[in-house]
Amino acid sequence: MTTTTASLIRPEYDALVVGARCAGAATAMLLARAGLRVLVVDRDREGSDTISTHALMRGGVLQLARWGLLDRLRATGTPAVRSATFHYGHEALPFAVKPRDGVDALYAPRRTVLDPLLVDAARAAGAQVVHGAALAEVVRGPSGRVEGAVIEGLDGSRARVAASIVIGADGARSRAARLVSAPTERAGRHACGVVYGHWSGLEVEGYHWYYRPGVSAGAIPTGDGRTCVFAALPRPRLLDALPGGADAVYREVLTEAAPELAAALRSARLDARLQPFPGIPGFMRRAWGPGWALVGDAGYFKDPITAHGITDALRDAELLARAVVSGTEAALAGYQTARDAASVELFEVTDRIASFEWDLEEAKGLHKLLARHMASEVELLGTLDETSGGATGPSAALGVAGGIAGR
Ligand SMILES: Cc1cc2nc3c(=O)[nH]c(=O)nc-3n(C[C@H](O)[C@H](O)[C@H](O)COP(=O)(O)OP(=O)(O)OC[C@H]3O[C@@H](n4cnc5c(N)ncnc54)[C@H](O)[C@@H]3O)c2cc1C
Repeated sequence: MTTTTASLIRPEYDALVVGARCAGAATAMLLARAGLRVLVVDRDREGSDTISTHALMRGGVLQLARWGLLDRLRATGTPAVRSATFHYGHEALPFAVKPRDGVDALYAPRRTVLDPLLVDAARAAGAQVVHGAALAEVVRGPSGRVEGAVIEGLDGSRARVAASIVIGADGARSRAARLVSAPTERAGRHACGVVYGHWSGLEVEGYHWYYRPGVSAGAIPTGDGRTCVFAALPRPRLLDALPGGADAVYREVLTEAAPELAAALRSARLDARLQPFPGIPGFMRRAWGPGWALVGDAGYFKDPITAHGITDALRDAELLARAVVSGTEAALAGYQTARDAASVELFEVTDRIASFEWDLEEAKGLHKLLARHMASEVELLGTLDETSGGATGPSAALGVAGGIAGR
């Protein structure tokens, strides 16, 4: 008998998570650890890459440490990042990563490393993970409440799944958000274009972020001796330049933003094609409704110029999982309040940086605001250890079924 995707899926779960990368896999892991019956689906192939550079900030590393996953990440050979240097024109301001809050280094794992690590942890906790399976439709009850979904395999098979909550962790162009008509509650005005590639044979110590009027760049050391080097520019300029090829605009912007880095690339080797990302203005969507919730980029996307999306996804995975486990709509409302309180300042600063309408003095000020935001984020994550986050055992799963779904 042939196994179809649909035949892998059971008829009922406590939680259906759509998207199995940093937001979805982390949320699924936490829900499964709390004893819920969890299905995670992702239309991508397991272990595949996605368009993203991958610098984690302290809050992201702290989450991996708190969840017992940091040693596994280190074991992948992802190097420790112990400094970050901000270059404003000719001025270089180096900062050491101070050992505190349980974090003594930052890491920038490739998504082909981080996402599978989280997927494995979700599976180990008992979640069922099915790749090559996409959310097609949500299923609503008579009151309009979301009560499940239709999942479609790449093989064309379809399964109808009942779930007490459907969680959209399916990225910025979220189908889940569209199907539940999640309103956008805050919109950014600016978007960066980014072109990046992974290089071998480049000696780079720590993160390097470069700023010059109208352009930016960065170097992010990652595993296998490679360094991710990106060039960022206003979206309209990238769109104008792309017909001439990503390579030309990449080298042009790097030469403007980081001439010494551009020169060093001449003796390094590009491992694969350059990846262009034309940019999407940021947004914050409503994060929950009857029978549904959004996490990660699906609910809150900001421009990649501040390299903070993964860190925020790992933060919000826990805020959401705790709310789901608590099993009440008030807890889900609390998730949105906490997400927004922890995000709005970063969202606005990021949008301002993405405008490229700053001079170097203003850029420094914006980065100070960013540093303050990151410190409060780490503080918030620290307080999670002091609170149980509601029930965390299997009985909490019943709380979800009884409380959230009300059935
Ligand atoms: C150019 C660029 C550079 C970036 N650099 C950084 C950085 O340095 N540091 C950082 O922290 N962040 C960075 N980010 C942001 C970061 O990539 C995102 O914040 C992060 O990927 C969000 O994770 P997620 O799990 O919410 O969504 P995603 O990573 O987008 O994953 C969503 C998943 O959902 C799946 N999916 C979509 N639709 C469906 C469907 N209908 N059914 C089933 N599955 C579906 C997709 O296949 C995908 O696997 C960058 C982003 C970009 C674009």
